[in-house]
Amino acid sequence: MKKLNCVVIGGGAAGFFGAISCAAKNPEAHVFLLEKNRQILAKVRISGGGRCNVTHACFDPQELASHYPRGSKALLGPFYRFQPKDTIEWFEKRGVELKIEDDGRMFPITDSSQTIIDCLLAESRKLKVDLRLEAGIENIQKSGEGFDLILSDGSELYADRLLIATGSHPAAHQWALALGHSIVPPVPSLFTFTIPNFPLQELAGISVECAEASISETSLVQSGPLLITHWGFSGPAILKLSAWGARILHQKAYQGTLSINWLPHLTVEKLRQMLLQWKIDFPRKQISTDNPCGMPRQLWKALGAHAGIPLEKKWANLDNLSLTKLLQVLRQDSYSIHGKSTYKQEFVTCGGVNLDEINFKTMESRVCKNLYFAGEVLDIDGVTGGFNFQSAWTTSWLAGQAMAEEGE
Ligand SMILES: Cc1cc2nc3c(=O)[nH]c(=O)nc-3n(C[C@H](O)[C@H](O)[C@H](O)COP(=O)(O)OP(=O)(O)OC[C@H]3O[C@@H](n4cnc5c(N)ncnc54)[C@H](O)[C@@H]3O)c2cc1C
Repeated sequence: MKKLNCVVIGGGAAGFFGAISCAAKNPEAHVFLLEKNRQILAKVRISGGGRCNVTHACFDPQELASHYPRGSKALLGPFYRFQPKDTIEWFEKRGVELKIEDDGRMFPITDSSQTIIDCLLAESRKLKVDLRLEAGIENIQKSGEGFDLILSDGSELYADRLLIATGSHPAAHQWALALGHSIVPPVPSLFTFTIPNFPLQELAGISVECAEASISETSLVQSGPLLITHWGFSGPAILKLSAWGARILHQKAYQGTLSINWLPHLTVEKLRQMLLQWKIDFPRKQISTDNPCGMPRQLWKALGAHAGIPLEKKWANLDNLSLTKLLQVLRQDSYSIHGKSTYKQEFVTCGGVNLDEINFKTMESRVCKNLYFAGEVLDIDGVTGGFNFQSAWTTSWLAGQAMAEEGE
């Protein structure tokens, strides 16, 4: 019987996992993995600051799906079949132990993305995946039930089944369009905001455990850890805001007013009472030196200055006007955003192959038989924390399993 040619395009997380899943399910198939660069798994290598945030310790499919601004509905079914528990088990079975950090992110215990790369590479070799480097795809044409591929060196390859796992590379969108798909226009997600003349610049590196960030004139609001950087704000609260607001922020050309509630767990009344009590307890202390809210001292000082309170002013002299201004800054501290940055960030693409055109039981195209998609090429993206790799593992595992099936 003729060998089934299963071709996977893209040597990233989704491509490797899809090829491995396919080869494991059908050892008789010839599984090709084509990568246009000399380097494989380049994003895995740099991910999580070089540690690779492989997945997130979130084991309820419903809750897991809620972390995807795009794709949550479509991913629900797939998460019942391959979710973080399966990812952990998959890597564990191959000698890679993952650990959970306090915020739920999961990393290899070695704290090195190389461990993940080594594991995927070893498994693909064991299963005889035919990995070809510097094998960019120039063109794809439907040919009978399968596909004729033209490679960058001019050679040709026939695929009975084809998995496109090229990440957000624009070429893949062109192929998908040519094969009958529609593309949701790509825009960036998971970025930080740039604030010109940032008044907190000198506090770069200071973070608070939980702040609430919102964008005026939108319903966008997210809370979580907030980090002060040299050019503005970062941290999960901001990254989540950028993910959920990826499209609207793009429309607004990344301009607007960012409002920070530094103490979202306190009502304005509770906060007012705390400040008034502090005034009674420490009348002779300077307002700038200490605070009842557990805020980092430097930040408190800067926010006091932002509220126009002289540094040397004593708590006893905090008048009603200053108290109101201080409350305003603590609860609604406003900054003008002018642009975004993805520097050193886990940025991903919002947009890609339209999910309505994919069968999420198999990841096969509904408009082109024997064509499969997995990973970031799809209009799926998650918030920061390991969710983007998880959707790559899940969708590519399903695709690999389905591609491996011998036809009737
Ligand atoms: C700096 C950074 C850090 C990140 N950290 C994390 C993290 O810790 N945790 C997390 O969950 N997510 C993280 N992400 C997001 C995550 O890396 C992506 O969601 C994930 O890599 C998507 O996998 P993929 O296989 O779909 O695409 P990619 O990883 O982009 O892989 C696509 C592959 O296809 C190849 N390719 C493209 N076009 C062609 C062609 N024409 N022919 C052949 N090959 C082609 C590319 O060269 C590439 O190797 C991070 C992203 C960045 C940028």
